[in-house]
Amino acid sequence: MADSIKTPLLVVGAGPGGYPAAFHAADLGMEVVLVDRDPNPGGVCLYRGCIPSKALLHAAQVIHEARTAEKLGITFGEPEIDFDKLRAWKDSVVEKLTSGLGGLTKQRKIRYVRGTARFAGPDRAIVALTDGGEQEIVFENAILATGSEPTRLPFLPDSSRVMDSTGALALDHLPKRLLVMGGGYIGLELGQVYATLGCTVTVVEMKPSLLPGADPDLVKPLAKVCTTQFHKILLDTSVTAVTEKGDQLTVAFRDTAGKTFEEAFDRVLVAVGRRPVSKGLGLEQAGVQLTAQGFAQIDEARRTTSERIYAVGDIAGQPMLAHKATHEGRCAVEAIHGKKHIYDPRAIPAVVFTDPEIAWCGLTEDEARRGGRRIRVGLFPWQASGRAATLDRPDGVSKIVADAETGLVLGVGVAGYGAGELIGEGVVAIEMGATAEDLALSIHAHPSLSETIMEAAERVMGQSTHYFQRM
Ligand code: NAD
Repeated sequence: MADSIKTPLLVVGAGPGGYPAAFHAADLGMEVVLVDRDPNPGGVCLYRGCIPSKALLHAAQVIHEARTAEKLGITFGEPEIDFDKLRAWKDSVVEKLTSGLGGLTKQRKIRYVRGTARFAGPDRAIVALTDGGEQEIVFENAILATGSEPTRLPFLPDSSRVMDSTGALALDHLPKRLLVMGGGYIGLELGQVYATLGCTVTVVEMKPSLLPGADPDLVKPLAKVCTTQFHKILLDTSVTAVTEKGDQLTVAFRDTAGKTFEEAFDRVLVAVGRRPVSKGLGLEQAGVQLTAQGFAQIDEARRTTSERIYAVGDIAGQPMLAHKATHEGRCAVEAIHGKKHIYDPRAIPAVVFTDPEIAWCGLTEDEARRGGRRIRVGLFPWQASGRAATLDRPDGVSKIVADAETGLVLGVGVAGYGAGELIGEGVVAIEMGATAEDLALSIHAHPSLSETIMEAAERVMGQSTHYFQRM
């Protein structure tokens, strides 16, 4: 083993939790060692998650628009898809962004160590180097940012026909019949990509609706599109067995009424959730205790039960979202730097990048009611939006949940084209303690989709300009 590296800060994992933490620490003048297996920072998000999936979703949207432009008097003909080129373009996006992060790491003089880290005590870790050999790293403080991995179901066969999101994003094969297990974020995003590329897609979801937990008013416009795009949507249904026979998979289902049936598929995409990567890291030796679900136990500053070790991102708990990881990473660095900094967000945006997109932040209507809050709700359907009409995208809705007495905005939800961009206004409103009246009285550009948030706020107050409701 080479001589030990001694560092004020070791960051394990260079995804959207780890690399922004390392960058922020370097910007504050700390020496930093950043460890990851991949050639550059980026983690699952850039290499095998958010970025490649959004590139493919963009391609799917282009195909969809070309197919539906006929209504506008523009005919393109059926799109021809060159899969090698599409894959190469997606990979080039990933390469551009990750190599850019590699450059920023060098510019900040962060020592990037390629390998897999395992803790050997509360102040040291051993890295099994990608190029062979081992490297000990002794640290004053460490940040754990090891992320999460797809949940595996023990009854599924070990077969290349059973894919997780990483396999699906590789886009190495276009199955004729695809079963997507799980009607959540990944299932619906990748299900739409494969359906648009020409696969016959069936989605099976064990709960009674797609995107369980999301506001049903927001899910409705998406569910309507999914019904036409997908061959079948099996709700309240679970997969009980998958058997590989020849070149196909026979899948056994059971619904909540007890009915059982079988169907054959060419491939199965498993998207039933993710679990934290916390095993095999030597966390016991380091004194880091885990919750029953395998997340690191942390305090408000993201400090674990081991005094010098912090945890951020997916290993630190729900929601497993890249932007939450980034915020936590910076927060942990501030705490290490001696600032009284705690993690205390009022609103974390969640965006499902389907078409239409679904985005929300703060409390959903259901959460507010279950919490015993007296609320007023403003819903603005996009059929009444001029901008949505010019985009030929009336399939949306904007929704505001406000406190009945104070008018404080508690939650914002948007379903529709570009919802992921629009939700930023909701996050700022909630974080700044805005009322529905503040949103209603702020002048929004015309014609823009942001007006739908203003009009939803007007509806919280009473009547909105473009949606008349007899009182
Ligand atoms: P998810 O939790 O969003 O959805 C999993 C779905 O699978 C749930 O609806 C669940 O009810 C269902 N399910 C579970 N077991 C099942 C079974 N045996 N049969 C049928 N259905 C079953 O999880 P995901 O889609 O795998 O995504 C994992 C995580 O990754 C998400 O929690 C999210 O935080 C993150 N993610 C985020 C984005 C984004 O921000 N746009 C995109 C992809 C993933």
